Amino acid sequence: MRPLTEREIRASLINCSKGEAKRAGVPKDLPDQPWDDLDFLGWRDPGAPERAYLVAERDGALVGVALRVTSGAARGFTARSMCSLCLTTHTNGGVALMSARRTGEAGRQGNSVGQYMCADLACSLYLRGTREAAGGGVIDESLTLEDKLARTRTNLYVFLDKVAARAA
Ligand SMILES: [Zn+2]
Repeated sequence: MRPLTEREIRASLINCSKGEAKRAGVPKDLPDQPWDDLDFLGWRDPGAPERAYLVAERDGALVGVALRVTSGAARGFTARSMCSLCLTTHTNGGVALMSARRTGEAGRQGNSVGQYMCADLACSLYLRGTREAAGGGVIDESLTLEDKLARTRTNLYVFLDKVAARAA
């Protein structure tokens, strides 16, 4: 994806109040992100580890979502769990349940959407093999990288649609 600025990131968050978007902890090293290898930018809030964010580019527009890290999925050191976006398996807390408040009336009533994701939101890097999952890995299957990236994008868009209340 193309490099993003802090201002663009804050403006992209669809499920935050203006104040929350202003307070969101944006990565300090934005210029150093591996933009060419990213399908979306995801990060944990450096000042609040229970918060996470992801920003994707969709049809030329930026869509950002604030997430709350509900729990680590792995119960024991050897327990494996899988990211529902990129299907990378991890052990030892490498996958976390992230929940996003839905937009609009649904969100005001407290509705959120939960999804298991790579705890560091680095799906793009696991898929390309530039970051390795501890004790896990990308599942062995005969799909090309392009196909895996397309599948991850589809999974992400389904999630974004749920947050934006465009799908059930
Ligand atoms: Zn992932």
